[in-house]
Amino acid sequence: MSRKFKKYYIGVDVGGTSIKFGVFGQNGTENKKFITKFSVETFFRKRDAERLITKDIFNAIDNYIEINDIGMTKRNIYGIGYAIPGPVVKNTVVRAVNINWKKKYDLVGATKRHYGKNVNVIVLNDGNAAALGEYNYYLKGKYQSMCLMTLGTAVGIGIIIDGKLVEGKHGIAGELSHLKVDHSKDALKCNCGNYGCLETVTGGKGIANVYNRMYHTNTAKVATDVIWPARKGNKKALAALEHSLGYLSIAISIIMLVYEPEIILIGGGVSHEGKFIIDIIKKSLKGKVFITKKLPKIVIAKLKNQAGMYGIVSEL
Ligand SMILES: [Zn+2]
Repeated sequence: MSRKFKKYYIGVDVGGTSIKFGVFGQNGTENKKFITKFSVETFFRKRDAERLITKDIFNAIDNYIEINDIGMTKRNIYGIGYAIPGPVVKNTVVRAVNINWKKKYDLVGATKRHYGKNVNVIVLNDGNAAALGEYNYYLKGKYQSMCLMTLGTAVGIGIIIDGKLVEGKHGIAGELSHLKVDHSKDALKCNCGNYGCLETVTGGKGIANVYNRMYHTNTAKVATDVIWPARKGNKKALAALEHSLGYLSIAISIIMLVYEPEIILIGGGVSHEGKFIIDIIKKSLKGKVFITKKLPKIVIAKLKNQAGMYGIVSEL
């Protein structure tokens, strides 16, 4: 790595299984350039998870500062941004159930105490950060409104209207991952404490859940355990996948009825399966979208699982 930058920025995407770090550099006023990324495992913390996971994050960044060969030091880090899997209001994390953050937490304050008060720090909900990444890097200028549905292990949804992110008064706008869509008696318990949330029946974990429940098994661990056989023509797997994405289409039809975005993007690990997934979603939307017979424009997101870190850094 030869090119040195004057300013460095770090985007931290905090997930339930891993914490991803994106390192960006900038000279003058040019766009921030992606340099490299690394990740660490997310250790589940039973108690004091806010402080302990933050400490894990600082340790990972400090280690990178020690070993990097791009000239990044504690002094030339100008900004650190976080994407958090939970509601965030005005830079404060409200809670994040997937990483056991139960109370309001001032991640900005903690970061400034560690890296200095001049470091610019922002915190966004992960679904919102990813939506901003896709929007700021690819859609700005072409579209005014969009919705990004990130189907990772969990589900994240980000809404942009008139070119602006919609967070809501308490940060729950777009949190359709906790929309109750499964009304069956054996609906699964969600991390949020409710039963039958969208996230329990779609997205990486949810697709596997639906398959396991339909066929009284526990062989499906991740989405690809269902998607790959379905692709090869396995009827049972395809039926489960269609059932699972049918739940997603309920959320899409609600989004359409509420603000009819110009474009809907599907991101996250599940989106790696491309057109195969899009076609199933479109099929299951038929009969769910009101009056306008024209289906919304639904495409695969471009930034894959890096959308969150791009989004945060673009705002720093
Ligand atoms: Zn929930």
